[in-house]
Amino acid sequence: MINNTKTTANSKFATQKRGLQLDTPIQYVKGVGPKLSEVLNRRGIKTVVDLLEVFPRTYEDRRAGITINQLQDGQLVSLKAQIIKVQSISLGRSTRKIFDITLKDSTGIIHCKFFRVPYKGYFERFKPLQEIRVVGKVANYHGRLEFNHPDLRDIDPGEEMQDEIIPIYIEMDGISSFKWQKIIKTILMELSKNIEVKTFDKIPASIKKKYQLLDYFKALNEIHQPPKSQFDLFLKNQSESHRRHIFEEFFFLEAFLAAKKLSVKKETTTKIENSTVLEKKVKQNLPFQLTQGQLKALEEIKLDLISGHPMHRLVQGDVGCGKTMVAFLGACQVIEANHQVCMMVPTEILAEQHLKNALKFVAPAGVRVQILSGKTKNSERKEILAKLQAGEIDLLIGTHALIEEDVIFKNLALVIIDEQHRFGVNQRISLLKKGVHPHFLLMTATPIPRTLAMTAFGDLDITIINELPPGRSAIQTRVAYQSKRIQALDFLAEQIKKGRQGYMVFPLVEESEKMDLKNATDEFEKLKLQFPQIRWGLLHGKMKPQEKEEVMHNFRGHQFDVLVSTTVIEVGVDVPNANIMLIEHSERFGLSQLHQLRGRVGRGEYKSFCILLMGQAVSLEARERVNFMETTTDGFKLAEFDLELRGPGEFLGTKQSGLVGFKLADLVKNQDLLLEAREAAFQLITSDPTLKLPENQFVLKYIRDKEGKDFG
Ligand code: ADP
Ligand code: MG
Repeated sequence: MINNTKTTANSKFATQKRGLQLDTPIQYVKGVGPKLSEVLNRRGIKTVVDLLEVFPRTYEDRRAGITINQLQDGQLVSLKAQIIKVQSISLGRSTRKIFDITLKDSTGIIHCKFFRVPYKGYFERFKPLQEIRVVGKVANYHGRLEFNHPDLRDIDPGEEMQDEIIPIYIEMDGISSFKWQKIIKTILMELSKNIEVKTFDKIPASIKKKYQLLDYFKALNEIHQPPKSQFDLFLKNQSESHRRHIFEEFFFLEAFLAAKKLSVKKETTTKIENSTVLEKKVKQNLPFQLTQGQLKALEEIKLDLISGHPMHRLVQGDVGCGKTMVAFLGACQVIEANHQVCMMVPTEILAEQHLKNALKFVAPAGVRVQILSGKTKNSERKEILAKLQAGEIDLLIGTHALIEEDVIFKNLALVIIDEQHRFGVNQRISLLKKGVHPHFLLMTATPIPRTLAMTAFGDLDITIINELPPGRSAIQTRVAYQSKRIQALDFLAEQIKKGRQGYMVFPLVEESEKMDLKNATDEFEKLKLQFPQIRWGLLHGKMKPQEKEEVMHNFRGHQFDVLVSTTVIEVGVDVPNANIMLIEHSERFGLSQLHQLRGRVGRGEYKSFCILLMGQAVSLEARERVNFMETTTDGFKLAEFDLELRGPGEFLGTKQSGLVGFKLADLVKNQDLLLEAREAAFQLITSDPTLKLPENQFVLKYIRDKEGKDFG
């Protein structure tokens, strides 16, 4: 305790002597007491620079000249106007009221709506003809602009409206935007006297010059206090100051990815010669020809394997494009060279399905295939582990169970992860550690928009299979309201009568009290009564793995017709005779998820259908989203649309989404800058791989820190 006080006093002394610096701990900032600094520290805001990089979320437009006819939807403004009318409107027969204050200026009229009374007597303050200042966000209500719950302020006599735009910060832990403003302003003033700070920069000088980037402090200063001449650009977050800081965020992340990629490329590993026997044998077993897309992917994999450096490749391909076979043929290369392969998948169902295919197509060529999952019996497991260690298993397929410590390979040379977005970084790493620099093949059926792939998987080589096997008929998609549900079910019944099978998907398993959502279990019972001629089956996530497998087995064997299920069928399930899918409450799903679900049909020769049922009272945004499903079956297009609407979180597993937690950058809006920053970063890492140049010291530090965080 005593020690502590002493150091604090010392650094306080130091701070006073040197003045405020970028790395000064925040408790020495004026206006930040011990209590506040503790709160901020918990948020990771520890130094002055951390504080300054709390960027404004938006700006409040307080330009004096602004008038009602200039207002735009979503704009945050401060506006001088005159009250015309103050009224309360009753809502139907209820006792609830809406308060409406109508305002005008020389250019038009606008309403301010209040759905509750801020405090007793609030509205009595306002009288017609009174001049006031409205501060609030412009909203669009059925095509008409209005304010909802704006802040109404009296105008001081003689008040001159300042021409300014005010930065607005996200309120956190009770720290108001105003408080942020004050603290940050104080710091900026203090720092602007400091020449050291003004010339400081983390971005290497050569890159600053090449990409014409503003100085660090100048840009930062302007973002918090926009210069008058550029208000319009700042209001749109399109100033050069924004550009600089967005570039910086992208640049450092890309440099990290570039370095990671380079370090993998530097590792050496066994060269895997291209297979001459196994691949041919397996191909002869196939009842189909590989598509061009599959062949190209396989060629890329073979080149990686023979390179002598570990492959780190992500194969992206729409549902049903045949990634499994590509993976198997890749595995054959390694197995022929007398090494082992493991393949991890997220669910038991998928593991079983892959095993079945491997037994059918790969095992006859002499490959020893085995499955290991959570449900493998103990005695059997022991036997498998012994064989694995003795090198008597070539291809081990399994779930998370593969990660267990006692799963030891004799010579694992290829790790395949299917539906990789279902796994976290640590799970992947644990599996990789089971070999010595093994080759690494990731597969995903979630098409990821390019910009996102560049940030989340920028360290991987990417193969895209953009072709489906021939003979798949397009899936016809229709959106239907709940009121058309019975027709949709009749249509399903018709298909079943023709000998087809179908899926009916629900968003939830159990009764949800608050919402009127249908759930799989209840509806399953009802549907059985309603359509006794159909044989119904049920599958949901709460079932035991063994039960699930049995249901899937029976569905595949056509022992029943329609599978009522939750999203557990989402990944990878393949039953070609199923040609129709009904999705209940489709508005509850993201587009990429709907696309995954829809990919369960259209896998055979039959014309396929997907009916998206939707509640009557869904938001316009949700309706728009679901309707988009009708327009395309291109997973990438859907993914782009989803990214714009719902942000990157949808695409990445929880562990990975941390990668894209930008402060200012926006992956959708700043795509061009991302490309520039990526180019700059990769060039830098190529030209100075060890980052020994002094101007690259901050890049080096960033990479070290991040490595420590991710893998420490
Ligand atoms: P995904 O890429 O979604 O993982 P799968 O590997 O499950 O797709 O393949 C979907 C279905 O297509 C499987 O039944 C598989 O046997 C079949 N298939 C794979 N490649 C071809 C091909 N070239 N021609 C015809 N069918 C194929
Ligand atoms: Mg698959």
